[in-house]
Amino acid sequence: MAISEKIALLGKGLYKDIPDVLTLKSIPTASELDYVGGEDFRATMTDIILPKAVEEQIDFRQLLDIDFQWICRCLRILNYGPYFTTNAIYCPDCDKVSHGEYHVDLRTIEVKMLPDNFNNAVTISKDEFIDFDGDIVLRLPTVQDIMNAEKDPLFVDSKGNTNYVLARLCYMIKSIKGNSRVSPTDVKFTLQNKLSSADFRILRDRSVELMDFGLRAGGTTVCPKCGSRNAAYAALVDDRFFRTTLGDLRAWKTDRAAEKPSGSDTATSEGGGRIEIFPADASATVRKDN
Ligand SMILES: [Zn+2]
Repeated sequence: MAISEKIALLGKGLYKDIPDVLTLKSIPTASELDYVGGEDFRATMTDIILPKAVEEQIDFRQLLDIDFQWICRCLRILNYGPYFTTNAIYCPDCDKVSHGEYHVDLRTIEVKMLPDNFNNAVTISKDEFIDFDGDIVLRLPTVQDIMNAEKDPLFVDSKGNTNYVLARLCYMIKSIKGNSRVSPTDVKFTLQNKLSSADFRILRDRSVELMDFGLRAGGTTVCPKCGSRNAAYAALVDDRFFRTTLGDLRAWKTDRAAEKPSGSDTATSEGGGRIEIFPADASATVRKDN
C-alpha cells in the first residue's frame, strides 16, 4: 500500500525547525500500536511510530500538541479509514444517551484553525483580573510540555492524584508581569500564592477560551433513537483512537470499493438490533438513512 499524503500543520508559520507541510506514509508495521497504553501513548507515537510514518525527520516532541493530534488523526484515517466504533452516543434533541457499539465517522470531527497572524503569545491582560496586577502570557503547549506536565511530581497530591488542569496551565504560562523567565514551578507558586480564587478562575477559564484550537473532542452522528443528526460522540486522540474493529475496516473497504466517501449516514448500531453498512451483503444490510 504505497499511499502517502501531504498535510499542512495547523501551526504552520510558528515553527523554526519543522516544515509547514509534512508527508504522511502508511505505517509500515503498526504492531507497536497494539501494545501502546494510555500512559505511554504520546511517547510511543513521537518516538517510535511517527518517525516511521512521517517522511520528514523532525523532533516530534517539539510539535504543538494540536498538531500532534492532527497528525494522529490523519494517520489513523490514512491507515485504517475514517470509521470508529464508539460505545455511547448522546443526542441533545431527545436528550438520551444510547449505549452499544456504533460506527461513527471521524471526518465529522471538526478542527478549529488558528486565527491568521496568530503568534502563539496570548495575553490575558491585568484589566481582566479582579485583584491581580499584571499581564499573563500563555503559549500553546508542545507535546513535550504536555508530557512534562503530566509526569511532574509538583502537581501530584498526597493521595497520588495529578492535577492535570493546573499542571497544563503552569506549563503554558510563559510570562507573568513581564517576567518571561518563569519556570512551571515559579508559575505554580505565583498562582497559588498571589492569585485570589476568583482571579485563578478567570485565568483558567480565559486560557481555555483563548487557547481552544485544534481537533474537537468528538464528532456528530445520527441518533439511534430519534434519527436526529445532531447526536454527538466522543473520540479523544489516545491509544483507543487507533484501535479499529473489523466492522470499521469493512465499512472503509466498502467506501473504497464504491470510490466515494459515504460522509454521513454512518451511525449503525451493533448488538441489540444489529445494523451494518455492508451493501455488498444485502441480506445482512439495513442502511439507516433517516
Ligand atoms: Zn435522539
